[in-house]
Amino acid sequence: MDSRSESLRALARPYRKAVLQAVLVLTIVAGALFATLNLARDHWPLAVAEIVMVIFAGSLLFVIRTTDKIEYWAWIFLILFCVTMFFSMMLPTSTTSVFGWVLIIPILSHLLLGRHQGLLLSGIVMFLVGILYWVKHQDQPAMLEALPIANTSLIAICVLAFSHVYELTRERSELRLFELAQTDPLTGLANRARLQETFERERKRALREESPLSILVIDLDHFKAVNDEFGHEAGDLVLQQITDRLKKSLRASDLPVRMGGEEFSVLLTNTTSAQAVDVAEKVRGDIASMAIRFEGKTLNITSSGGIAELGSDGENLRSMLRAADKRLYLAKANGRNQVLHQTDEPSLSTAL
Ligand code: GH3
Ligand code: MG
Ligand code: MG
Repeated sequence: MDSRSESLRALARPYRKAVLQAVLVLTIVAGALFATLNLARDHWPLAVAEIVMVIFAGSLLFVIRTTDKIEYWAWIFLILFCVTMFFSMMLPTSTTSVFGWVLIIPILSHLLLGRHQGLLLSGIVMFLVGILYWVKHQDQPAMLEALPIANTSLIAICVLAFSHVYELTRERSELRLFELAQTDPLTGLANRARLQETFERERKRALREESPLSILVIDLDHFKAVNDEFGHEAGDLVLQQITDRLKKSLRASDLPVRMGGEEFSVLLTNTTSAQAVDVAEKVRGDIASMAIRFEGKTLNITSSGGIAELGSDGENLRSMLRAADKRLYLAKANGRNQVLHQTDEPSLSTAL
């Protein structure tokens, strides 16, 4: 499963949990009511099925408080719900109104399972209910008149279509909000939140595949002077142009990030600290060679950087950033326009 669909699932989980909780409470209330009515009418098979459903819904309500496998439990609930529905429909004593329950399936399955699985389940259930209706009423021509059947089918298709479109729109706008929350508005780069999330994933992969993972932090030199001399707008333009250059210098698998202000970082997958030096030198050289035009003037800027590697510089993002920041600070103190890594540190720490 790709990270996008995993993120979507994670985002939808609280909604699905809330819907499942509400449905379970309703199931308990309705199940208890119907069981009482059926017991009073001496309809034992139905009453027993309803009591089982009430007990199951009660237990599930308890289980889903802590689980993160909401989709799994939602499937189990929906299958049992459909089985009970089929069972009721097949009983000779049940009335045609039981078939009305099929209309709730597209709504519930989309809310609980999302648009793909929701559509699949709704399609299967509606098809089976259609067959069941026909089998049950095949010798009652009055029940098989074309117009009422076409009317009811159209209502069912409309409910299915609306549920699907609603879920599609919800998913899209949620993804958009999620991406906005992880994006820096000025440069369009990933922000710290996205770095944190991507780092966790890449760290697991690096450990699993025994591959290296490095991070490079970059801070623009004397950036305040750009703002002071040319204005904030010029500073913004520099940040945007550096972003474009940064993207061109990197592999698609690297993640460039705006950490805040004039500080960037790059998460370098499958890259040792020594290999990261080459990337960092390329980035530093590219930035230094840029001639940024602003209102007829040319701006030049340099950058300083620090590199850290997973393992030798710690096992989490915080300790890696701390190590890289320390080297960045040394690079600044050592004259700027340079990138330092682990082996540069001892000699410089004592010299500076
Ligand atoms: P050093 O070489 O030590 O890093 O010096 P510096 O001037 O780059 O660092 P300092 O931290 O003193 O200043 C950073 C400046 O970056 C100050 C702030 O106004 C500017 N800045 C931060 N965010 C933005 C932004 O989004 N746009 C613009 N134009 N400037 C920004
Ligand atoms: Mg700076
Ligand atoms: Mg800074």
